[in-house]
Parts: sequence; structure tokens; C-alpha cells
Amino acid sequence: MLSRSSALARAKKARPPIAARKPARASAKGEKWVYLFHEGDATMRDLLGGKGANLAEMTSLGLPVPPGLIVSTRACNAYLAAKGFPKGMWEQVLEALKQVEKSAGKKFGDPKNPLLVSCRSGAKFSMPGMMDTVLNIGMNDTVAESLVKLSGDRRFVFDAYRRLVQMFGTVVMDLPHEPFEEVLKAKRKETGVTNDAELSPEHLEGVLQEFKRIFRKIAKRDFPHDPIEQMRLATEAVFKSWNGKRAIDYRNAAGIAHDLGTAVNIQTMVFGNMGMDSGTGVVTTRNVSTGENEIEGDYLTNAQGEDVVSGTRATKPISALSKEMPKIYEQFAKICKKLERHYHEVQDVEFTIEHGKLWMLQTRDAKRTAQAAVRIACDLAEEKLITKQTAVKRVTPDHIDFFLHPQFDGAEIKAAKARGDRIATGLNVSPGAASGVLAFDADRAEEWALKEKKAVIMARPETKPDDVHGMLAAKGILTSRGGRTSHAALVARQFGKPAVVGCSAIEVDVEKRQFTVGGRVFKEGDSVSVDGTTGDVYAGELKTVIPDFNDPYLLKLLKWADGFRKLQVWANADYPRDAKRAREYGAQGIGLCRTEHMFFETNRLPHVQQMILAKSDEDREGPLAKLLPFQREDFKGLFESMDGLPVTIRLIDPPLHEFLPAYDELIRDVTEMETRMKIAGGADPLGLAGTLAQKRKLLDAVDSMREANPMLGLRGVRLGIHLPGLVRMQVRAIIEAACDCQKRGIKVYPKIMIPLTAHSAELRVEESILEAEAKAVMKERGMRVKYQFGTMIEIPRAAVVADRIARYAQFFSFGTNDLTQTTFGISRDDAETGFLQEYLEKRILTENPFATIDQVGVGKLMEMAVKLGRTTRPELEVGICGEHGGDPKTIAFCHRISLNYVSCSPFRVPVARLAAAHAALAEEGAAGANGAAKAAKGNGKARANSAKKRIMRRRR
Ligand code: PEP
Ligand code: MG
Repeated sequence: MLSRSSALARAKKARPPIAARKPARASAKGEKWVYLFHEGDATMRDLLGGKGANLAEMTSLGLPVPPGLIVSTRACNAYLAAKGFPKGMWEQVLEALKQVEKSAGKKFGDPKNPLLVSCRSGAKFSMPGMMDTVLNIGMNDTVAESLVKLSGDRRFVFDAYRRLVQMFGTVVMDLPHEPFEEVLKAKRKETGVTNDAELSPEHLEGVLQEFKRIFRKIAKRDFPHDPIEQMRLATEAVFKSWNGKRAIDYRNAAGIAHDLGTAVNIQTMVFGNMGMDSGTGVVTTRNVSTGENEIEGDYLTNAQGEDVVSGTRATKPISALSKEMPKIYEQFAKICKKLERHYHEVQDVEFTIEHGKLWMLQTRDAKRTAQAAVRIACDLAEEKLITKQTAVKRVTPDHIDFFLHPQFDGAEIKAAKARGDRIATGLNVSPGAASGVLAFDADRAEEWALKEKKAVIMARPETKPDDVHGMLAAKGILTSRGGRTSHAALVARQFGKPAVVGCSAIEVDVEKRQFTVGGRVFKEGDSVSVDGTTGDVYAGELKTVIPDFNDPYLLKLLKWADGFRKLQVWANADYPRDAKRAREYGAQGIGLCRTEHMFFETNRLPHVQQMILAKSDEDREGPLAKLLPFQREDFKGLFESMDGLPVTIRLIDPPLHEFLPAYDELIRDVTEMETRMKIAGGADPLGLAGTLAQKRKLLDAVDSMREANPMLGLRGVRLGIHLPGLVRMQVRAIIEAACDCQKRGIKVYPKIMIPLTAHSAELRVEESILEAEAKAVMKERGMRVKYQFGTMIEIPRAAVVADRIARYAQFFSFGTNDLTQTTFGISRDDAETGFLQEYLEKRILTENPFATIDQVGVGKLMEMAVKLGRTTRPELEVGICGEHGGDPKTIAFCHRISLNYVSCSPFRVPVARLAAAHAALAEEGAAGANGAAKAAKGNGKARANSAKKRIMRRRR
């Protein structure tokens, strides 16, 4: 065996970069189904699965990996299609096994020197615990007896044997877990020990016999003693587990394709349960909760891997290994660094120590929390392991979104602690705060969350892969057992669910559907709150607040993103407080202020209603004059908050009836009062007459304004043309506010936006009135303000005649909420709760067009509008302010069609900044790839030409 340093040095020289390597080809003799570890590498994930490809890579790197073979994912797919092993596959397995035996120096099934193997699943994308694994294959009565003689460790041998029977029974033969667990529980009770590691060899032999009996009784056959049969059945079980329910659920949730198949890794067993100089651990090369640059994870001495992840034994932090086995720890820490440098990524590794020798069993890119993802990306870039571009690409919009998620309010936490309502503290494995009602199993959690729309906290002693559907539906997860690498922790982190695990003070009684802690009982349906950031668990529901956005790593990463993006990011904000928040989050302007929102405030609504009900322009002047100062103050606030940045103020848009009482309510009230008066024989004992007269008047007015399709009626620019006094007042308020602010040294860039334009003539008419008003104000104030008039593009016709519209509009902003509605002819108010859902379920539509732009239809109109608009006005500024403006896919589309900015809610601004950078980097990447392809083509041509010349020269 090579020393580690010489192996690493050799690997350094010999290995080309991962991306440069080519997958191995099928042999000419027929399909190659089976690969020895040294025949593969990390680029072959499709064929060898992630686990297999990385075992192969580690083998090639010279790391201590127990020898093994990989049956390919193609073999799995062929098996699942034909319901049998493909031709030649099993022969290849047996052939490769001989090589493994040679490398291991042991023989499978040979009692004199027996080789035991594990059989593990391994798909292209990691699906932790979703598929099957069988350990200790090759064990039988004869092998066991001889192993006892060889190892001198009867306890170890019978422990390994009973584990095989148990795993083989539950995984391969699909037997229930409980009878096996019951035997162990009874044995522990009988012998007075608390964990299985304390059971004596004799006890374990007893357990083994019981296990065999259970096997025979339920499976209706004996446990197979032939090692080859064990291996064959285990391989089939792993193949089949690809289509198991929990694997399918997981793939659906994680968006993993169902046709990838799993590889099967058959690998020499190494044992961490061979005494106190043995052990096993699951570790990440950095802290995947916080991102700190420290090896993090758990290990156990004298144990097998499942003991660490199942949470059944209290694990030790990996730092303790540096004291217990300092040499091993040092070797392991170096390997961790080596792996990080090799993969340019934080790794999640499994190791086993067998009699003081370290073995690496797995490496893969580590899953991490959002906080860790951001910090790790920054740190790796600063350590020059990756570029800043890669760092930005590695952080997802969801990661950024996390920072904007609620956390518990500090005052609430303080109060809860003071009340004694912090009931327990566990491991803070997945940050974020969640409150909800307790559900003690996955089905109930799912049912309550999905059907009854309850916020649910799923509480379990520990979670298993079967629980994933409940975990996905729950708002938060709480377990009484398990560590940072437990199933609950991994899944919670991956799906961004706040989770507290290993909360040992809590005693979960699944049967009674309750948990007890500190003498208090919490029943199913009771409210609790879990803080995945701190690990605290509280009784009752705690209020949440938005987390501190000023995480230095987040700010750094977003700054890098800003350096790459071409799109600007603006915000939709109506009030100064929103504008302020948007600016803090990095907004470069206000893309939409919906002025009508201000009309709904209680001190304004009466004036708005008076204005609407006025019979003439003259009558309207009074209420409009009352509204003017309100609006002026609103706009001043916005200009102040956005000092130096553009502020787009949209003139009134909604149909007027929205500001009046609803027709149906009015008619009900009027009818009720009329009936009462009728019953009273025309008398008015309750004094209703005055109110009735008022309501009748209002009803007449509302009735006269009623439209069958108000969203296609008198709204937007049409309303402005119909009630010019109203929009004149708004423009006056904007320009007066701008003048006032400018006078105070504030830089103002008002952009006055006219909604729902369909025809260029609408703009011509509207603008001539509004320009005159703006000029009049500036004259009165004796100053000039730089303002613009522009329009929203929300009607297909506007997109089609955008060249004409651009004659009057100095900017465009796509109102994609309305543009989607009008292009599809689907009501935006009704569709999402109605048939659209059915369309999505039936896959008539693959995405909700009100969330992500329908690029083929609505997008085509947008693209056309941009091009046409810029033929008239080459510098035309174009943005988007519909809800789609914060959607990453839409942002990528907006980048492609050369918009200037996207505008979204303040809370989406950071996400949009990242998504815009991703769009730009993806384009650069594509351009780079095209350039490389062209260059390669060019080189090919050049090579062909020079070859031609050589031939010509020879001919001459
Ligand atoms: C739109 O239609 O996309 C838009 C931003 O305007 P609103 O949602 O106010 O109609
Ligand atoms: Mg609109």
C-alpha cells in the first residue's frame, strides 16, 4: 500500500481536471454494465451514480477506499424495463468480484478468508436514505464461525450477522421493521442495558436466532445462506427501490427526473464496530449550518454507519476524535482539505476506522443551509478555490429568499422565556422560525397542512425516509433524537424547513400522540414554535419578524452579483417605508407606485367618494383640492426616500366602483330598510328615512357606474381621459412635490406612468392635458423638474403598435399582470382559484402564467414591443412591474429581451439582484461555449486546410 502522501502526490500528477475526462465507453463485446472503482471517475455520474462516481474518483486520487464495483444506472433501467438483469450483467458482476477479491485479499463466501460486501444504491443525484442498502453480505453460519476464529471477536461477528438478517429481511424481502426492533428492545430490557452496543455475544446470538425465526415466519422461506444469492437479491432490491414510493415522492419534491435509475455499489465491508480502536462518522468539511470553515459532524467509536445517522446512539462531535485518535484525525482532516481542493466544493464524507485504519466510504457535495451556502460561496471564492462568478452562480434565489424569511420576534422570545415557555433546546440544524400545531406522524402532518391548510410542526422521535411527505408539508420539524447528519436534519436543510433535532428533553409518545417535557404534556393539535436558528422550542405560537438582512456574507455576495448583472432592479413601493426598505435591499428606483392605494386610507376615502359622485367637473374641484395635499405629501415622502433615484408614479388605474360600497351590499341594505318601513305601515319608528335616502342615492350612482367586465372597462388611461381633473390633480401633486424636494436639494426623477394604454391616440390626448399641468406648476414655482411621461404596456394591442406608442411615451413598463390576463383572456382575479389549477394539474399549462411569464405568448408580445418601441426611440427605457418582475425565470427572460430593469416587491429585490446576475452569467457561459465551439470548428477547418496543403505539397 502506498503511503498517503505519496499516493496523493501521484494522484496530483496523474489526474487531469474532472471536467476534462471522458466517460468510459461500452465495450465492443456488448454493453459494459459493471465498472471497477479504478475504471470510473467523477464525470461519470450519469452512468455510475453520484456515489459510485465519487468512490471511483477517490480511488483514483489514492485515498483509502475499500475496493468495490459499480453496476451502472443503465443496468438498473434495463432491469426495470425487462424485469430481469440485462444480458451479461450478472456475469460481469461475478467477473469484477474476482478483481475486488484480489484487491481485498479475501474471497467471497470462502470460510477460510471471507470477504463481506455492502450493496448500496447510488443515483446521479443524492437522495439521502430514499433507496436501499444492505450491509455484511456474504455472512452465513459457516462464515460466521470461521470469522469468529479469524477475528477472535464473537460479539462483532454476531452483531454483523444479525444486522444482515435484519436488513436483508426489511430491505430485500420487504418485511416489517417492528418485529426485529421488538426483539432488540426485549433483549435490552431483559439484560438491563440501554443500547445494543452493550449486548454480549451470547445475547446477540440469541437475537440472531430470533431474527432468523421471524424471517422464516414472515417471508415464508429461510434466510438465504448462499452469499451469491444474497448479493443477487440485494442488487435486485436496490434496483427496485428506485421505483419505491418514498423515492418517487422525494424525486417529485426535489425535481429529479424519474428515468435516471440508480447504480448499485458493491463494496468490501470495513467495520467500525470492531472495538474501541474502530469507529465511524459522518462529517462535512465545513459547518453546513453556519458555513464556518471547520470540520463538522458526528462519530461513534465501536459502531457502524447506521448508528450515527439513525440517532439511536448519542454521537460525539468530530472534534473529539482529535483527542481520542489524534493521528487518524490528522490524516482525516488532510483528506477533507484535499477533497475540498479537488472538488472545489464542501464535501459530505463518511468514514470508518477499522482497527486504527481509516477508510473513506463516501464523498459528495454537502447540502447546506442558505446561510452556509452564502458564506461558503464567499469563502471559497476568497480562498481562490472558485471564481466570484461561480460563487454567485452557486447561491440560489431560494438561499437569498431565506434571509428575508421571518424569524421569531425578539420581544416574543423574551416574553416566552420569562413565562417559562421555552420548553426545550435541541440542535439548530436548519434555520428559520416556524409555529404551528403538533402532528405526530407524516400522514397527519400532510393531511392537516394540505387539506386543512394548518401550519403544522411535525414531531417525531426521529424521522425516516418514509416521513418525507409529512416533512415537506410541515412548516417545521422537531425530533427528540438524531444529530446534525440525521435524516431529519438533511431533509430539513435541503428543503429549507426550520428544524430542531436531537431535542432529548422531549419524550415523544407516538402512540399516545403527545410529548412530555419538564412535566408538561403537549398533545397533537397543540401549538408549538421551533427556532431552527437557535435550536429552541417554545410552547404556543410566537410572532415572527423579518431577519437581519445585513449578513456580511450576503451583502458581499450580492455586491458581486451586482457587478455581473446588466438588468437594474427596481421596486414596487407605494409608501415611503416600503421605498426605504427597497432601497436598503438594493433597489435602484421605484418602478411602480400604485397611487390608488393611498386613496383607500380612511382620511381620504370620503373625498375620493365625493369626487366620484360629483355630477360635474366643477363639483369635482372641491374634493380634488382636498386630495391634492395628501397626494403631494405621499410623493414627497417617496422622493425623499429615493433621493437621486427614479420614482415611477402611476396615475389612477382601477375602475371607480372599487372606491364605492359594493352594489350587492347597497341593494341588500336598501331592500332591508324599505321592508322594515313597509312592515311598520309606512311609518319610520327607527328613523331610517335619512339613511335610506342616502343609500338610494349611492345605489343609483353605483348602479350607473356598473360594468359587466370592469377590468376591461372604464379604468387606466380611459379613466384619466374621462375624468381629466383627477389625473391633473395627481400630476400637479407629483410636480409640486418634486419642486418642493428639489428646492431642498433632493435629487428627483419623477416618471409619470399612464396605465392600460391600447392606442397611441389615448396617450396623445392624455399627455397634452398633463404636460400643460406640469408646465403650469413649474411656472408657478419658478423652477424646472426633469420628469418623463411613459406608459404601461398591458394590452396586446399596445405591444403590437409599440412603435406608435413610443412617439408619445418616453418609457415603457410591462404590466404583466394585466398583459397576461388580456393575452390569455383569463381573468386574473378568478383564474388562480378556479380552472387554472385544473389546467396545471392536467399539464395543459406547465406553469402558472401569472407567476412566471408565458414566454411563448405573452413573452413574444413583450419582445415585439421592445423592438418596435426602440425603432421609434432607440434609447427607450423598458422595464417590467407586474408580479413576474421578482420571478427568477422571468428575470432571465427579461435579460434576454434587453429590458433595462425589473421591478418587484421590496422583499424580492435581493432575489432579483441575484437572478439578474445569474441571467447575465448564463449568457456569458453560453457565449463562451459557442465561442469555444466556433473556435473548435475554426481549428478543425484550419487543421483540414493545413492537411490539404501538406497533401498538395506532397503531390507537387
Ligand atoms: C400589471 O398589470 O402588471 C400591473 C403592475 O398593474 P396592476 O397589477 O396594478 O394592474
Ligand atoms: Mg395593470
